[in-house]
Amino acid sequence: MPLVSMKQALEEAAKGGYGVGAFNVNNMEQIQAIMRAAEELDAPVIIQASRGALKYSDMVYLKKLMEAAVIRHPDVKVVLHLDHGNSPETCVQAMDLGFTSVMMDGSLMADGKTIASYEYNVEVTAKVVELAHARGVSVEGELGALGGIEDGHGAGIAVDDTTHLTDPEQAVDFVKKTGIDCLALAIGTSHGAYKTMRYDKDGNALPPRLALDRIEKIEANLAAAGFPDFPLVMHGSSSVPQELVAMVNKYGGKMKAAMGVPMEDIQFGIKRGVRKINVDTDGRIAMTAAVRKVFMETPEKFDPRDWLGPAREALYELIKGKMIDFGQAGHGKDYEPRSLEQIKAEYAAQKK
Ligand SMILES: [Zn+2]
Repeated sequence: MPLVSMKQALEEAAKGGYGVGAFNVNNMEQIQAIMRAAEELDAPVIIQASRGALKYSDMVYLKKLMEAAVIRHPDVKVVLHLDHGNSPETCVQAMDLGFTSVMMDGSLMADGKTIASYEYNVEVTAKVVELAHARGVSVEGELGALGGIEDGHGAGIAVDDTTHLTDPEQAVDFVKKTGIDCLALAIGTSHGAYKTMRYDKDGNALPPRLALDRIEKIEANLAAAGFPDFPLVMHGSSSVPQELVAMVNKYGGKMKAAMGVPMEDIQFGIKRGVRKINVDTDGRIAMTAAVRKVFMETPEKFDPRDWLGPAREALYELIKGKMIDFGQAGHGKDYEPRSLEQIKAEYAAQKK
């Protein structure tokens, strides 16, 4: 089974009415955990690497690990996606490596920090779409700017600042002008574990306030403009499970009070056109909790397999839960994958 295109994976998700988790990876254990969960649950899945990940693990290592994943799990439909590409050059690099999908995040300038103008975003995203579609590769764009910073990427917008949310009118114009395959929304989610500035009187974190009504508006506007079932993407969608944060802290960690996006909010989005859900932080917390437990309970251990193994197991359990909650479980055999060559021909036919 070759890697599949994001375009096809999300079209199928729209037909099936489910969301597809997009999980970030940096190493072998994470890839193995995600692929095992996908195979066991018969779930299509998106594996993504950020620029930070490609730097950490080296692009070639990551690419070869993904090739191994495809060989070991021939029945799993997996999209290999570049998360938050900062320039056409980075996106082309990923395409050259065999990524089947790229994100061009033109909401920020190439430094990954400065908020870009709308005009810049349209121009740079349209350029990547042209380059990508010529290869059958899918493109995710972003409109509005997300809060928080992850892997050094982000404008550092305060998580309670609502001035950079996606404008539902502009969303239609953006999709028309760029030709993207899916659109990342800024609806008040943010990257990282600390998504909220809201606390109760005892200092417990309260969930972030999301502009969920915008999802409905954006999806309706797109449908009215001739883009029915247009796939939307939620970034910063970790739920920051309280039991995992408590476990990290129980075993010597010092995570501050944190609260993520409640699963009900994500499921609300999935019912209204969200098809790709990015989850990174929850996996990090799950793995860290597992490693801390090993170190605290059995400090005599020194074989990396003794802690990387439990970390992999913890991530696998977490991902399984997400796949069930997002609805992607059981949809792995709904469709036959189309090759990037076929998808490329479809793009070319659309253009005419
Ligand atoms: Zn993101």
